[in-house]
Amino acid sequence: MTRTNLEFKTEVKQLLDLMIHSLYSHTEIFLRELISNASDAIDRAKYESLTNSSLMENDKEWKIRITSDKDAGTLTVSDNGLGMTKDEIIEALGTIARSGTKEFMAALQNKDVKDNPELIGQFGVGFYSSFMVADRVAVISRKAGLDRSSGVRWESAADGHYTVEDIEKEKKGTDVILHLKEDEKKYLEEWEISSVVRRYSDYIEHPVVMEVEREKESELKKGEKVKIREDETLNSMKAIWLKDKSDITEEEYNQFYKHVSHDFSDPAKVIHYRAEGTSEFSALLYLPSHAPMDLFYKDYKIGPTLYVKRVQIMDHCEQLLPLYLRFVKGVVDSADLPLNVSREILQSNRLVEVMNKSITKKILDTLTEMKEKEFDTYLKFYKEFGRVLKEGIHYDFSRKEKIADLLIYESTKKGADTYTTLQEYVDTMPKEQEEIYYILGSSRTEALSSPYLEAFKAKGYEVLVMLDEVDDFIMNSLHEYKGKKVKSVVKGEIELDKKEEKEKKETEKKFKEMIELIKHQLTDDIKDVRLSGRLKETACCLVAEEGGMDPQMEKLLKSMGQDVPENKRILEINPEHALFAAMKEVFDKDPKSLVLEEYINLLYDQALLLEGSKPKDPGAFAAAVTKLMIKNAEKSA
Ligand code: ADP
Repeated sequence: MTRTNLEFKTEVKQLLDLMIHSLYSHTEIFLRELISNASDAIDRAKYESLTNSSLMENDKEWKIRITSDKDAGTLTVSDNGLGMTKDEIIEALGTIARSGTKEFMAALQNKDVKDNPELIGQFGVGFYSSFMVADRVAVISRKAGLDRSSGVRWESAADGHYTVEDIEKEKKGTDVILHLKEDEKKYLEEWEISSVVRRYSDYIEHPVVMEVEREKESELKKGEKVKIREDETLNSMKAIWLKDKSDITEEEYNQFYKHVSHDFSDPAKVIHYRAEGTSEFSALLYLPSHAPMDLFYKDYKIGPTLYVKRVQIMDHCEQLLPLYLRFVKGVVDSADLPLNVSREILQSNRLVEVMNKSITKKILDTLTEMKEKEFDTYLKFYKEFGRVLKEGIHYDFSRKEKIADLLIYESTKKGADTYTTLQEYVDTMPKEQEEIYYILGSSRTEALSSPYLEAFKAKGYEVLVMLDEVDDFIMNSLHEYKGKKVKSVVKGEIELDKKEEKEKKETEKKFKEMIELIKHQLTDDIKDVRLSGRLKETACCLVAEEGGMDPQMEKLLKSMGQDVPENKRILEINPEHALFAAMKEVFDKDPKSLVLEEYINLLYDQALLLEGSKPKDPGAFAAAVTKLMIKNAEKSA
C-alpha cells in the first residue's frame, strides 16, 4: 500500500499552531467535538439509508464507541456512520477552507477568546481540537456502501504534514485514534471519560458506549464477586424536547442549550412548546444571552436543528425562522414532514410555512412578555440582539407594528439609561402633537445639545434619542406608528407652531428677495433656502429632505469608504432671529453689499458646523470670523 505525504493548507497549519500553543484550558471539549462528528456521520448514514438500505451493511445498531488503551496510550472514538473516501478525508481534514476558520483565527488574536477557549465550538473547527490533547492523531475510515478494500488511513502529528494511505477496513465508519500527550493521559480514565460525555454529550441521540470493568456477583458461586468487562452506555440520549415541561429542570434546559448552541453561558430565555392543529411539532428554542461573534457574518448559520420524528434531518433549517430572528437556537421536531424532505421541498412546503409562522409568533410573543414582565432581562437581550430584531421592521411588513412595539429608546424627556417605547411615547404626547420625533446621534450628550431640538424643547415635545445608525433606516421603513408619522428632527419641513396663514405670508414676503439672494450665492452647495419652523435661538441650520439620508448615516458610510450620492441640503433660516433683521436692513440699503456676501458664506459655514460637518474652507472661515472680531473690537474700543 502506498503512503502519500501531503502538506496541510496554510490556513490549517496556522489553525493547528494556535490550537496547540494558545489554548490550554477546557481541553476536554475535544471529546464533545469528536462525538458530535461521529453522531453527524451516523445521522447522515441513517438518513441516506432511508432510500438506500444497502448502506446499513447488516449493521443495524448505530453506535459511537470510545476505547481507552492504557498500554498504547490511545483514546479512540469510533462510529459506524457514513465514513469518508480518500478524497473526502483529504478535503475534510487537510484542506478545509471552512467558513468559520478564518473568523475563528481572527477572533483568536483577540484576548477574549484566548481567555475563553470554549468559544472554539462556535466556529466548527472541531476535529482539530484533538491536537490540544494528542501529539499524533490517526483517522481510519471507510465509506458506507463501498467494499472493504476502499478504506483510508489518515495520520498527522500536526507538524505541517499528514499522510494518507489505502487500507482495508472491514466495517463502515470512522475511528479517530488519539495518541495522548503525556500530561493528558487522564483522558484514559473511565470516570474522566464518562463525566465529560455526560457533561457535553448527554443528549446525543446515539448511544456512546465504552467497555468498562465492573464487579458483579458470581453466577457460579453465591456471595463471591468477579470482575467482568461489559459495554456501558454513557449518555442518556433523551430527546429533551419531547418531554413534558414539568419534567425538565432549569439545569437540564441549560445543559441542552449548551449542547445545541456550542455556547458556554446560560441562555436568556427558554421557549418550549408543542403545536397541534394544521402542523404538529415540538419546539425547544432559546434566546442566547450573548451575541456570538459571527452573528453579522455572511456565513452565520441560521435556524434550529430540524428533526422529523426524532431523526435529525438538518443542522440548521433556515426556513423555520425569519432572518431577523437568526439569533434563536434550538430544535424543532415535526410529526408530519416526510423523512426524506430535501432543502428544495422545505422551501415551498406549506407545513414548513405554518411552522415558521407559529415559531415567529411564539418568539415575538415571548419577547413582548419579557419586555413587560422582566424588563431588565429584556434590556440585556435588546442590547445584544436589538439590532438584528429591528431588521424585521424593514423585511416583515405584516409584523411591522408588532416588532415596532419591541423597540425601546432613550428620549429627551427620560434620564440616561431610561427607556421608552413607541406606545408610551404616543400615549403621553400632548394632544396637539401630530408626529413622532427622533434624533440620531453618536452619543446621548451630542444628541441632546443639538440645535435641531430647540423648537421641540420650547414646545415640551419629547424626542426619541437613537444611537444606532441603522435606526434611521428602520424609522424610514416604519414610516408611521399608530397612525402617527415618524419623523427625524433633522429632515423635512417641521412646523410645530401653526402660524396664521396671513402672518406666514407676510414673513415670507418680507424675506423673499433676500432668500433669493442667499440661494443664488450658495447655489453650488445647497438645494434650497427656506424659513425654519424648528429653530428658536439659533440663526440657521441645514436639513435633509424628508426621506433623505441622515447626515450621521452619511458620515458613517463615507468613513466606511462607501460611495454616497451627493445630497444637497436645505438651508433653513430663523426669521425671528435678530441677525436676519440686521441683514435685511443691509439688503434694503444695498443688495450687492460685500458685507452681506461675507455673512451669507459665514451663515452656511455655521450651519455646517452645527450639523457636525466642517466648514467648506476652514481657512477662509477663520479669516472671516477674525475680521469680524477685529471690527467689533475696534467699535467697542
Ligand atoms: P465540522 O464537524 O464542524 O464540519 P470538523 O473539523 O470537526 O468540522 O470536521 C470536518 C469535516 O470532517 C466534517 O464536516 C466531516 O465532513 C468530516 N468528518 C469529521 N469527523 C468525521 C466522522 N467521524 N465521520 C465522517 N466524517 C467526519
